[in-house]
Amino acid sequence: MGSLDPKRCGGYSAHFLHKLLDEYECPICKMALREPVLTLCGHRLCFSCSEEMKKRNNGVLICPLDKTILSSEKIFPDKLAERVILQLKIKCDNFLKSCQWTGELKTINNHLTSCEYQEVKCLNEQCSTTLLRKELSDHMEKDCIYRLVTCRYCKQKITFCDNQIHEEKCECVPLCCVNQCGTEILRKEISSHITDSCANTIIPCQYLNIGCNFKVRK
Ligand SMILES: [Zn+2]
Ligand SMILES: [Zn+2]
Ligand SMILES: [Zn+2]
Ligand SMILES: [Zn+2]
Ligand SMILES: [Zn+2]
Ligand SMILES: [Zn+2]
Repeated sequence: MGSLDPKRCGGYSAHFLHKLLDEYECPICKMALREPVLTLCGHRLCFSCSEEMKKRNNGVLICPLDKTILSSEKIFPDKLAERVILQLKIKCDNFLKSCQWTGELKTINNHLTSCEYQEVKCLNEQCSTTLLRKELSDHMEKDCIYRLVTCRYCKQKITFCDNQIHEEKCECVPLCCVNQCGTEILRKEISSHITDSCANTIIPCQYLNIGCNFKVRK
């Protein structure tokens, strides 16, 4: 999940290139202010942190730095501070995995949609493998057991892990005739081969109708 996830409580846990100034750090969560509010006593809090504190304090907000009681008309959204914070330079969330990207805080989510070091899930629905984005195409082309492969007999596209079962039934696999006539025939043609053309098929003598009960080879 990106640092900018709006549902997250508390400030931004991004990796800032330069040490964050105290005035942009929330005294409640100790992180960079998210949606900062400015108090009448001159301090800033994350909006979500101020709401949390009110909930825990029966609706009363007290400045954690100087204990001023802050009714709702004593706090204001601080759009200027918000703009400044969103423009601060940060490293990618994946810098420990060696992503070299740096950019403004507000652009991190956009970067993460293409970051080569972001953890992603294999695009084949049934596959639960997660890996770095830069390894995804190799995995999907060479390793994923749900990748499509071409059956070497019928040329149909088959899921790799189903291919063995497919080959056991594939109509185009060449088989030796069960009558040991020495011919190789495709599985789908075996029954017509045996009834119509196999030299080793045993058939009743052509004189059966006049009483010959011998069975002969074709
Ligand atoms: Zn906070
Ligand atoms: Zn204060
Ligand atoms: Zn990155
Ligand atoms: Zn996969
Ligand atoms: Zn096949
Ligand atoms: Zn045969």
